[in-house]
Amino acid sequence: MKIVWRGLTMACGVCGCRGLFRKLGMFSMVEDCPKCGLHFERMDGHSLGAVAVNTVASSALVLTVVALVFVAFGTDVSSSFLLLVAAPVGLLFPILFDPVSRTLWNAFELMMRPVQPGELKQQFQSNK
Ligand SMILES: [Zn+2]
Repeated sequence: MKIVWRGLTMACGVCGCRGLFRKLGMFSMVEDCPKCGLHFERMDGHSLGAVAVNTVASSALVLTVVALVFVAFGTDVSSSFLLLVAAPVGLLFPILFDPVSRTLWNAFELMMRPVQPGELKQQFQSNK
């Protein structure tokens, strides 16, 4: 599960390299890992997986917040109060989680489709 941890901590799934996001834009990911050379957009439409990861995580968090409100205040809470509590979570979390969702999707994708010969720099070819 080291690869999932690397994804959760915004590191390269292959080598664990950090610094994959440009300094001035946390939403701007480098195209290739600076250490092992893995090209993160491994196929057309690759980034859609990150969107899916972000959507699932954000939905789960909003549902958890709603459930916690119900547990804390009962089911008699007004819908406007529920919206007041859950909407900021539903709006901010997907934005803040975007970089993690990209590296996490990359980790999932690496587990489903391991690195192929020639995808990495020479020194990383046989050493993951
Ligand atoms: Zn790497």
